Amino acid sequence: MINSTTTAETTHVMQLPRKVIIGERILSNTSQLIKDNIKVNSKIALITGENVKSKIIDTIEENFAANNTEFQWIIAGDASFESVGKIENELKQDKIEIIIGIGGGRCIDIGKMAANNLKKPFISIPTSASHDGISSPFVSLRGSDKPYSIKVETPIEIIADLHIISNAPGKLIASGCGDLIAKITAVKDWEIARDDNGEYFGEYAANLSSLSAKMMLDISKQIVNGQIDKKISRTIVEGLISSGVAAGIAGSSRPCSGSEHLFSHALEYISNGRCGLHGERVGIGTIIMAKLHKLNWIEIKNALKIIGAPTTAKEIRADKDEIIKAFVLAKKIRPERYTILNKIDINKNQIQDLVEEVGII
Ligand SMILES: [Zn+2]
Repeated sequence: MINSTTTAETTHVMQLPRKVIIGERILSNTSQLIKDNIKVNSKIALITGENVKSKIIDTIEENFAANNTEFQWIIAGDASFESVGKIENELKQDKIEIIIGIGGGRCIDIGKMAANNLKKPFISIPTSASHDGISSPFVSLRGSDKPYSIKVETPIEIIADLHIISNAPGKLIASGCGDLIAKITAVKDWEIARDDNGEYFGEYAANLSSLSAKMMLDISKQIVNGQIDKKISRTIVEGLISSGVAAGIAGSSRPCSGSEHLFSHALEYISNGRCGLHGERVGIGTIIMAKLHKLNWIEIKNALKIIGAPTTAKEIRADKDEIIKAFVLAKKIRPERYTILNKIDINKNQIQDLVEEVGII
């Protein structure tokens, strides 16, 4: 469908990863997987955290040595622009040509941002499936005046080792499920921005993102006793990668991030990062926003519960005031992002009633 601002002649840029590899124990083949995709002339930087490094060091070093691949470990600091700046200096001094981020959100975001600033190819190696930043052209870092994701270059390659990802703590994959289910309200918000404001709406990207959320709802029906097996882990990883790719197709975070993400960013800001993981906050935001959108919020809440993701403020260590404040701030945190929050005007008592009704507090 062509809307008011997009015509067949409109130029639209899509940024996609060149290669996505998903498999069991593929980390022991990392060097070849990179060389099959990119010409490697010089040193590769591996940005990671101490904990992840201790788990993968033998596998990576053995593989890189066997393939005569020069590399250097870089330990990432906190998820801030300051950390990125320090790492950029190291990368420049050592004449690094390819940057890899190995880990959860922090190391991937730091690596993706540094690679973007230095105009170097970035490879994403997630060790958990906790959010869609593993494949998207977006990063979320502290230290800017904008407490939400910013657009960068898409990772050129994603290597997802299911052996490592499925052995990560269950809390992380449950958080990833929260980030997937969020696409239900994100796409609804995008639709109303199209209808009310004539904003660009990419039908294909929206459908791809919705499909990931739908699969998430379907998967929750297959889970027994909270057990997420390897087959389900694989579908979750593929869903998160597809959502990130949907953002690359749209050229914006619109298909992946709506009012539920605004709520999450606001809560993170208010609590100084104390309340839950990204996908955990986003999942709770999705329950609230689904109610506002008049969607089946009970189905969403039940799916999150089955998966083991939090569905109450208490589970993410947030109190009633923080939840209400986050809801109020959500609309102001990114004024240009039009969502369901722009269409409603409710006072603090009504917000309290709303979050009580959906059982968040
Ligand atoms: Zn997200």
